[in-house]
Formats: sequence, C-alpha cells, structure tokens
Amino acid sequence: MKPARAAPPAPASTAPAGEVVLVGLPVAPGIVIGPLYAYARETESVEERRIEADEAEGETARFQLAVERAERDLDKITALAREKLGDEHAAIFAAQALVLHDPSVYDAVIESIGRDLYSADYAVHRIFSKHGERFRMSESESLRERAADLLDLEERVLVHLRRGRLLSAVDGGTIVASPQLTAADIVLFARRGILGVALQYGGATSHVSIMARALGLPAVVGLRDLDDHVHHGDTAIVDGVRGQVILRPEPDTLAFYLKRKESYARLQNEQRKLVPLPPETLDGHRVTLRANLEFEEELELLKRFGAEGIGLFRTEILVLMRRRVSIGEAEQFEIYRKIAAGAGPGGTTFRVFDLGGDKMLPVAHREQNPFLGWRGVRVLLDKPDLAVPQLRAILRASAFGPVRLLIPMVTEVDEVVQFRALVADVERNLRAEGVAVAEHVPVGIMIEVPSAALLAERFAPLVDFFSIGSNDLTQYTLAVDRGNDLVAKHFSELHPAVLSLIERTIRAGHARGLKVSLCGELAANPVATPVLLGLGLDEFSLSPVYLPDIKQVIRGIRLDDARTLAARCLQAPDAATVRCLAEAFLEDRDCHLAARLGI
Ligand code: PEP
Ligand code: MG
Repeated sequence: MKPARAAPPAPASTAPAGEVVLVGLPVAPGIVIGPLYAYARETESVEERRIEADEAEGETARFQLAVERAERDLDKITALAREKLGDEHAAIFAAQALVLHDPSVYDAVIESIGRDLYSADYAVHRIFSKHGERFRMSESESLRERAADLLDLEERVLVHLRRGRLLSAVDGGTIVASPQLTAADIVLFARRGILGVALQYGGATSHVSIMARALGLPAVVGLRDLDDHVHHGDTAIVDGVRGQVILRPEPDTLAFYLKRKESYARLQNEQRKLVPLPPETLDGHRVTLRANLEFEEELELLKRFGAEGIGLFRTEILVLMRRRVSIGEAEQFEIYRKIAAGAGPGGTTFRVFDLGGDKMLPVAHREQNPFLGWRGVRVLLDKPDLAVPQLRAILRASAFGPVRLLIPMVTEVDEVVQFRALVADVERNLRAEGVAVAEHVPVGIMIEVPSAALLAERFAPLVDFFSIGSNDLTQYTLAVDRGNDLVAKHFSELHPAVLSLIERTIRAGHARGLKVSLCGELAANPVATPVLLGLGLDEFSLSPVYLPDIKQVIRGIRLDDARTLAARCLQAPDAATVRCLAEAFLEDRDCHLAARLGI
C-alpha cells in the first residue's frame, strides 16, 4: 500500500542527463518554466495480519474512527475546492465521502474484521484494493480514474489508522510531475502555488485536466515516458499550448522558451482586443462563436473570451462528477437555471446526458465494445427515469433564459421521433402543472455517427438545428478509437472522408433552413477554421480559451477564398494534403496571430 507522499529526490548518481522532449496532450493552455517536483506515491506494504476474536471490537472501533477522520479531511478539501472552484467541483469530494460509507466498502471492512479476523489495516487494504482493481481494469477512463480516487481514500483511512499525516504536499513555485494525480491532489497543490502539471496518464476530459483548466494551471497529460526521465529538482518547461514537456532544457531551448513565453503573453494581450469585435470575414460574412462549458463556474469565461452563449453544455459531467445516476430534478434544475440565466442572450444548448462509451454509467454493467454499445440517446430512450427528470429540469430552466435541447449519438430517424415525443410529453405535463416553460425550446441533434450525416436530409425536417460532433464523427468514420493513443496518429479530423460528411450535413441543414454548428475539438483548431467556413458552417462551439484564436482567423480571411479552399480539400486524397492546403492558405494571409508569434 502506498501512503501518498512526495517521492524523496532521487540520488544525484541516478540523475538522467541531457534534454528530453516529451509529447503529450495539451489540456490546459499556458507556458511555464520552473523546477520539477517529482511527486509519486511511495509503495509501502500492508501486512496481512490476523487478530484474536476478542480484538475485533477494538479494531472495528479503530476503523470507524479512522473513517471519521478521513471524512474530516475530505470536508476540508471540499471547502477548499468550493472556495477555489465552486460547488460543481466540490461535489467530487462530497461523492468520495459517500463512498466511505457505501455498504460495499464500509460494511465489508467491518465484516472482514469480525468474520475473517483481519486487522483493520489489512481489511481496509483488502476491500479497497478489490474495488480499485475492478475499476483499474475497466476500459472506461472515468472508471480508471475512480480507481485513483479509491486509492486516495484508502490512503486517507490507513494514514488515520496509523495516526499519521497524509503528505499530499509539494513545494510552491514548482512544476509537478507525476504518473497520475487525483482531483484532491490538484486542488491542494494549486493552493500551494504550483506553476503547472505534467502527467503520465490522463485525457482531456479527466477530472485532473478539467480542474487544471479551471484553476488556470498549464498542464500536459498522457506523457507516456515521463516516469523514465523525471528527476526531482531539474528545470522543466510545460508547454500547455503545444502539448510538450521539456526536461533539462539546453540553454538554447531555454532561451527559445523564454521568448515563447513572452510571445504567449503578448498573444493573450493582442487577443483580448478582439473580444468585443464580431466574428466576421473580410467580405462581411458573419458566423457565431459559442462556448463549450461544463460547469457553472465557467460562466464568467463567456464574457471574458467573447462567446455568444453556450453551444454545448455537457450535462453528463454532472453525473460523472457525482458518481451516481440518481441526480434528481430539483438538483438539476438549480444548476440549469443558473446556467440559463447566466449565459446571456446567446442562450444555452443543453445536451441531454450523453452517457456510455468512455463516459461510463456509474451502474454495474460491462460491455465488450462500449463505444458501439449502450450510449447517448439509446440509454435515455431505455431509461425514462433518467431522461424525464432531466427534461423537466431543462424545460423549467427555459423560463430563465434562452435554452436549446441537443440529443447525442443519434443514429436512427426513429430515435429523434421517439425522443421528441418524450420532450413534448414532458412539456405538456409541466404546462398542465402550471409550471412556466419557454414558448419555444428548439431541439437539435448531434451529427456524430456516419449514418446521421449520410441521411442528414431525412433528419433535417424533424429538428431545429444540427450540431456536428467531430470527435465521434471522426472516430466512427475512420474506425479509430478517440481515446487510444496507439492509434492517435490515425485520428484525423481533417480527413477528406470526415470533411465530406460535414459538407453533406451542412448542405442538408441549409436546404431546410437550419443552422449548423460544430462542437467537437475541430472547432478549436485554427487550421480547420477556413475549411469549415468554406464548407458553410454557421456556428463554432469550443472551449472558451481558444475563441480569440479562431476569431482572429475568421477576421483575416474572405469567405470566397475559403470556399475555394474547402472545395480543394474535399478532393484531397488524405488528411495530410488537407492540412498542407489549409496551412498554406493561412500562411499566405498571415492571419493566424498565434502562428505569426510562433505559438
Ligand atoms: C463530439 O463527439 O465531437 C462531441 C462534441 O461530443 P463528446 O466529445 O462529448 O463526445
Ligand atoms: Mg460525441
């Protein structure tokens, strides 16, 4: 077992030498340079110890006291998270506290002490490890992350059993390098004033990544070989823009990055000036730029980065954060009401729960192939107990600000018919109860499966708008798992096959007078901006921090030219050619400020 504690600095003789450049996933932008803090969890074994029957009562009491103390720790962390990040994030720790009392954990430990006569320490280790192992083996990233949380909980309880102190502490002013961090770690580290984070594991939607973004800590995750190269105290650079971590930079590299850091600060200053300006091409074609948000606390980013409302609010994060599906109508309404009221005239696009795939339902079920399984609208149509309270909460929120409903993972026309009937039913009931609901709540669908894109003209009469999910559309079109780094190089959102489905969707939408949005990561890629504009996209929805970058490109090009570029890209043989064409297009126009500054 492993009480979390900062690994002691490695002896100098084992220090790896020379500059190392590691490439990972940029999950929180920014560039920082500083000393490295190698944070690891030390491995300390928990001995298998049997007790006498008459010791069981004492051991049980010891366990109960340790749980109480662990709970007190979590209360403190919850309060800290609430203060720094708000209620949504704090909910993670409240959920962890609930796990401590979950009968499959709490009762099982007491049983293991009383029946198997194991010491409290070993019983805790045994039960927590059993659950942790199940999660660790899961294909779902969110469940694997839950394994890390369980380890955190186990450590907390064990430390209190031993009356020790959990050293989830690092030095301020450092860059923390670690295989994996828990949500609790990052909140505590941020309070200590760390500069940035480099992690071996994790993805863009891991809790740690979401927290890093919210805390404004530059972060790169998924750095496969990090562990082999980290040496405590060495200088490191985290480039949260490009997704690189440089260890022990040579003087030239360091000089380059000091300049790059300056350029980045300049870029941010320059881009701030763009915020009040419209996203309009040189020849006067206006598009809409909206934000993808997950948390209420991010609302202030809309103004800061000039978003016209929310183009994608991923509601399933609420479930994933709480680790339970039973999030009631009242609790949801409170959140949705604040979002709807705070998003301004641009309104909020609430995407109903998109669970399944890598966003595992926190209920016991296992699938061989979850991305091709029980996902999105399929789950909602099968589980009205999940869908109805959510629809009621969203429709009630529509009385407080403009609201749109977005249905995820649609593959069949009939799913839309059924879902819309459910929405109409819920709306009718609310009105019959005298509850205020907006006169018109537009309903749209995600176009993220090839079948939906190919038959977009048959879906168009049934909906009010389309939103293209380029992440899943790429995954399903190219048969490339979006979360598998072994095939990451094949995940080409600019592949002509994907572009062709996007073009088809936009054409079908426009033929029925629908607005077409794109809310996958492609919307945040400035190289794709002229191509998407040229294909006729009406709306881009993306992480707010990247909005100025995209606006800059839009304001620097002509729609006519973008159309010509898009037509050439559709004819290209592969994604690499598309990328070359688009990059050359931007270079010719010198309109991508980040590129001009070398960012
Ligand atoms: C997408 O698939 O592009 C999308 C926006 O949805 P998510 O990333 O939440 O699956
Ligand atoms: Mg999707």
